Amino acid sequence: MSRVARATINLDALRHNLGVARRSAPDAHIMAVLKANAYGHGLLRVAHTLASDVEGFAVSCTEEALPLREAGLQHRIILLEGFFEAAELPLFSARRLDAVVHQPWQIEALASADLSRPIDCWLKVDTGMGRLGFSPADAGAAAERLATLPAVGEIRWMTHLASADEPDRADTGSQLVRFGELAHASASAANSAATLYWAQAHAQWVRPGIMLYGASPFSHAGLHAPLHPVMQLEARLISVKTLPAGHGVGYGSRFVCPVAMPVGVVSIGYGDGYPRHAPDGTPVRIRGRRVPMIGKVSMDMIAVDLRTVPQACVGDPAILWGVDPPASEIAEACGTISYELFCRLTPRVQRVYRHGGVDGQE
Ligand SMILES: *Cc1c(COP(=O)(O)O)cnc(C)c1O
Repeated sequence: MSRVARATINLDALRHNLGVARRSAPDAHIMAVLKANAYGHGLLRVAHTLASDVEGFAVSCTEEALPLREAGLQHRIILLEGFFEAAELPLFSARRLDAVVHQPWQIEALASADLSRPIDCWLKVDTGMGRLGFSPADAGAAAERLATLPAVGEIRWMTHLASADEPDRADTGSQLVRFGELAHASASAANSAATLYWAQAHAQWVRPGIMLYGASPFSHAGLHAPLHPVMQLEARLISVKTLPAGHGVGYGSRFVCPVAMPVGVVSIGYGDGYPRHAPDGTPVRIRGRRVPMIGKVSMDMIAVDLRTVPQACVGDPAILWGVDPPASEIAEACGTISYELFCRLTPRVQRVYRHGGVDGQE
């Protein structure tokens, strides 16, 4: 048996989740957010799976956009931070990439550009996120200037919501009011949380990311979305033995066996992207039961308390996250969010794609 640290990507679940986005925002175009290797799920496989039912893709740089064009995808591709230097403009023009425009220097770069084909632009307004975008006071003038430039094609409007995942907060409403006062043409404001929860934010284009991958965007556990987890992270038990009472487990003996007990070692660690901060008790599923992770996470291994599954043996699969336990629960235990768990999986985790119940390799 070779080492198993594997992420099985369920493409049927991906399509199911896209259906949820579609039904949540039936009148909007969808730009599926594929940045960071489709949140660690695999850029091209995810793009091809969604291609027939989305109007666009959003990525963060040309390195993520060009493989989509090279794979023959003709969709609108939006670069969420636009171009990082003026020298990229001919590439945007030639490969028909849409640029988010958020800084005055970008407008000046477009003003000086001599392009064979104009670039469609998304004017980003900072309605409260405090990250990218023109202030609402400056956005009108920026839009007027863009409209005069031969290098600029169609102009759309974009903003990003800071707290759409916390529906009790008033910020989202005020951000949408500010945006609505400006954006009359085609516009986009909604991430996953707003796609699911804030119908007033849908506008012409929604930008779902995490929900496509089947993790809830809501920090509030009570808000449930009918999503199916796309990734199952799995490893194997590579050691099972009984340790005596008082024996430490792992670096620094953070866990000490309270009684003589069976301890398993699972073939995954922070070198695979399993979070090193996972505390004792973080659930791992073995033989259909949740068992507690114990001791500090090593680079290649974690230990588990097998007292509730004494029949467990070497070779048994161990599920780190998937349908159960969900990635968001592991993330919460580790003080992070599912987004980070997905993005941090390292290349040595093998990706296997499952479609129609059949597995295929990357
Ligand atoms: C990442 C990102 C999204 C998607 O956010 P989710 O919470 O994953 O749905 C949407 N818009 C912008 C600008 C982003 O950077």
